[in-house]
Amino acid sequence: MASAQIDWHARARELQIDGRMVIDGQRRNTQSGETFDCLSPLNGKSLGAVARSRAADVDAAVACARQAFDDGRWADMAPAARKRVLQRFAEKILGAREELALLETLDMGKPIQYSLAVDVPSTARCIQWYAEAIDKVYDEIAPTPKNALALITREPMGVIGAIVPWNYPMIMAAWKLGPALATGNSVVLKPSEKSPLTALRLAELALEAGLPPGVFNVVPGFGGEAGEALALHPQVDAIGFTGSTRTGRRMLDYASRSNLKRVYNELGGKSAFVVFDDFDDIARAATTVAGSMFFNQGESCNAPSRVFVHERVADEFVARVVAEAPKYAPADPLDPSTVMGALVDDTQLRTVMGYIAAGRSEGAVCAAGGRQVRTESGGYFVEATVFDGVSNAMKIAREEIFGPVLGVIRFKTEEEAVTLANDSAYGLQASVWSHNINRAHRVARRLRAGTVHVNQYDEDDITVPFGGFKQSGNGRDKSLHAFDKYTELKTTWIRID
Ligand code: NAD
Repeated sequence: MASAQIDWHARARELQIDGRMVIDGQRRNTQSGETFDCLSPLNGKSLGAVARSRAADVDAAVACARQAFDDGRWADMAPAARKRVLQRFAEKILGAREELALLETLDMGKPIQYSLAVDVPSTARCIQWYAEAIDKVYDEIAPTPKNALALITREPMGVIGAIVPWNYPMIMAAWKLGPALATGNSVVLKPSEKSPLTALRLAELALEAGLPPGVFNVVPGFGGEAGEALALHPQVDAIGFTGSTRTGRRMLDYASRSNLKRVYNELGGKSAFVVFDDFDDIARAATTVAGSMFFNQGESCNAPSRVFVHERVADEFVARVVAEAPKYAPADPLDPSTVMGALVDDTQLRTVMGYIAAGRSEGAVCAAGGRQVRTESGGYFVEATVFDGVSNAMKIAREEIFGPVLGVIRFKTEEEAVTLANDSAYGLQASVWSHNINRAHRVARRLRAGTVHVNQYDEDDITVPFGGFKQSGNGRDKSLHAFDKYTELKTTWIRID
């Protein structure tokens, strides 16, 4: 049924939430019986009780994952057999499209049209892409002298702890699950306490698809409890983490205090969007920055939140972005025409409003938005906000806001633009807008970011790596490069007489 014809509110009322953990292929209550209320950002009300996993539960999940890995029930399957299971998993995800989309929207506040059109298909495509890849990737033989053969092979790492954030709960989980499962690992997934529901359903769908029990376990709970226990666990071989830079630091600490497990951090961003005066379609640059910044309520790690504009075109650019902002008016996320939903929770709302206040008090000019709206709903809605007159030294330019707030910084020269853009602790993405081919290449090379866009910001595909320079993290999600995170390289020397 077309999304516009579905009564999503009626569907939401009928929804049955099962918040129990998934361990060893079964739904389980926590050992203590503890749960927490899963609150919806749409109205602040509880969607249901979710298991509050703690160290004992994480122990149980890791033990099952370890057993599943060690007995080879998944790792020893032929790649083509693993492929078929994961393909079925992807099909199951698409089959549950409407249910998963509804859960995602209710749980984290994004508009239902995007949950349906972006989050669910991207999740399925990610799983399917790694499924397809796994029986097409070859190992290597080194060019050694003739009396020896050196095989360079990849082996699954073992038990992967996946700890993910709330902004794209399913997609972030899939970026870990796809390459980790395809290469034969077992996974214990800790979703964010702010958005645990789709992870639990994904685990059920994987079981229905034929993934052996124990290979993919889910322990919902809080960071300082379930997350810490998982990251400290001596039987976990690697942590695939996506979240804030602050928590990423802790991941390195947990590894150093436990078993030196591999830590792959995908962290925050403060991406620069640099518009030169030789770019003649300022309208397109403005529409693009608004679309990318306000998508997902600005809760995207790669949101282009620092916009550097040459002073000659800055007034026109600002006027156009300001005209775009009202098109992203926050509205009911369950209405299929809504383009801007709710911030994930009250804490995030207060954080974002705090940054808006900081922008004003530091002297930036709030040219659009800036207010909390729809308070009568009980949910957490903030207008698409544009600050002009920002300097790169201001708090709103230095810190990740993770909300719909964009700051415009004016520059005079190419050198100044590059220096300012790179003057950030982060280096996730960047964008350069110029019709001068030499300048576009020159600046793209100099921008210190894992992805640089030229004259666009929207391109994205599972085939390309995603990750950051500097404090935006290490390792790369997506593409074949993600296999590096979940496999160990082994050299086997064979003497030939
Ligand atoms: P967060 O760091 O608060 O939490 C992320 C996960 O870590 C959650 O599951 C949380 O429960 C857990 N956690 C929190 N504290 C922990 C602790 N002390 N020990 C163990 N686990 C802990 O981040 P968030 O607010 O959920 O997500 C937003 C952040 O994620 C932003 O900084 C955003 O830029 C980043 N992000 C990065 C990418 C990327 O690919 N680089 C993608 C999406 C989001």
